[in-house]
Amino acid sequence: MTDSQQVRVRFAPSPTGYFHVGGARTALYNWLFARQREGKFILRIEDTDRERSDESWTGGIVSALTWLGITWDEGPFHQSERRPLYDAAVATLLDRGHLYACDCTREIVEARTKDRATPGYDGFCRDRGLEPGIGKALRFRVPDTGITTVHDLVRGDVEFANETIEDFIIVKSNGDPLYVLAVVVDDIDMKITHIIRAEEHLPTTPKAVLIWQALDAAPLPLFAHLPVLVNEKRQKLSKRRDRVAVEDYRQLGYLPEALRNYLCLLGWSPTEDREVLTIEEMISEFRLEEVNRSPAFFDEKRLAHFNGLYIRALSDEEFIERSRPFISGEHALWTERQFDEGLFRSLAPLVQARIATLGEIPGYVKFLFAAPFEMDEPSFEKAVRRDELAVTILSEARSAYAKAEFEVEELKELLISIGEQHDRKLAKTQAPVRVATMGSTVGLPLFESLVALGREEVLRRIDGAILRANEEG
Ligand code: GLU
Repeated sequence: MTDSQQVRVRFAPSPTGYFHVGGARTALYNWLFARQREGKFILRIEDTDRERSDESWTGGIVSALTWLGITWDEGPFHQSERRPLYDAAVATLLDRGHLYACDCTREIVEARTKDRATPGYDGFCRDRGLEPGIGKALRFRVPDTGITTVHDLVRGDVEFANETIEDFIIVKSNGDPLYVLAVVVDDIDMKITHIIRAEEHLPTTPKAVLIWQALDAAPLPLFAHLPVLVNEKRQKLSKRRDRVAVEDYRQLGYLPEALRNYLCLLGWSPTEDREVLTIEEMISEFRLEEVNRSPAFFDEKRLAHFNGLYIRALSDEEFIERSRPFISGEHALWTERQFDEGLFRSLAPLVQARIATLGEIPGYVKFLFAAPFEMDEPSFEKAVRRDELAVTILSEARSAYAKAEFEVEELKELLISIGEQHDRKLAKTQAPVRVATMGSTVGLPLFESLVALGREEVLRRIDGAILRANEEG
């Protein structure tokens, strides 16, 4: 491309499954590059594989991109609607002698080439002069000699000897153009200047370059093949082994801005030791030429840590707003009538300080809203049944709390002094009270939670726990 040319990039997902975090990283890099260069970002749905493509996957991609704030300037275009363009390109290539018809079946080719050193098609039909038509594939006549060079901003110039590239099929014997052709025709038609995509496409890129040149479409685009994402065992992320669907992260309560920030660091890092970047900083500082070649570790734990940072940076009100999908509707563990917004608000800052994902919210506040109230069995076993002083402490706490003003510090002091009479530290003294009132040995700070529950409910729950311990005992 020339300097004066406007940058035009595309994100070209195939709608054959859940939208993958690797796809989201590719989309983000394209988008950042386009925004940085004041170029255009095009969304193209590559649905040439009719059997594997599904409109609902396309919906998932569109919704995930929107959620991540990755907006497109043109599209979405669907390859399935662009067939006439591919047919026209095939006619041009045929006309110029770049293609030939081939009636070899896969089995015949395999039988003929099984002992050869170079794998792939052996050029059997090259000079047979077969008339093209249904029942015959069309193959691209790759030059016997010479080098095809892919100019890659991440990897430098990558050279492929033409003798190692087989005469590949671009139209199937049923007349359908193949993906390798469609991509090039679309990229030419859409005037794409930079092709930024996953590394797995690098091996087929020389074929794209050959078609591009044969169609006489100068200038060639620049490429950037992005490093693969791997798990902690350095295995390529896979949907069978790893959590890869953007939708899953959304459901778990990841913030789109946190995921976007984390994805941006998978293959690129800003100068200085910074990790949290605003979208404006990403746009101005991201450099395609600085993207790494080595695989990038997609670390779910680090992503969760990032998400926690982003959650803590939300204002009180934003936190409440972001919580909504998790405290009402399908995620909630209580009905709308049981929920009390005022109570939730009173404890929300304590929840916000503790969670890594919004999906953890219900677990922290279910003691307030879920009816009937239930104590977690292992917690009850540990803090009440196996503690011979538990019932005494609960009874003493009950008496003290019945007369209290019900303020945080006061409730704490009362429990400290009960503990002192039994030579116990606060942590141990509060365990049975916590399980009796909040249902679990872990969770929000006890005394704030007791205030939120209110005296009547706290006394009722303590009574319930004492009753149960006595009945069992
Ligand atoms: N449709 C391809 C994929 O989803 C992308 C190919 C490309 O970006 O050129 O992997």
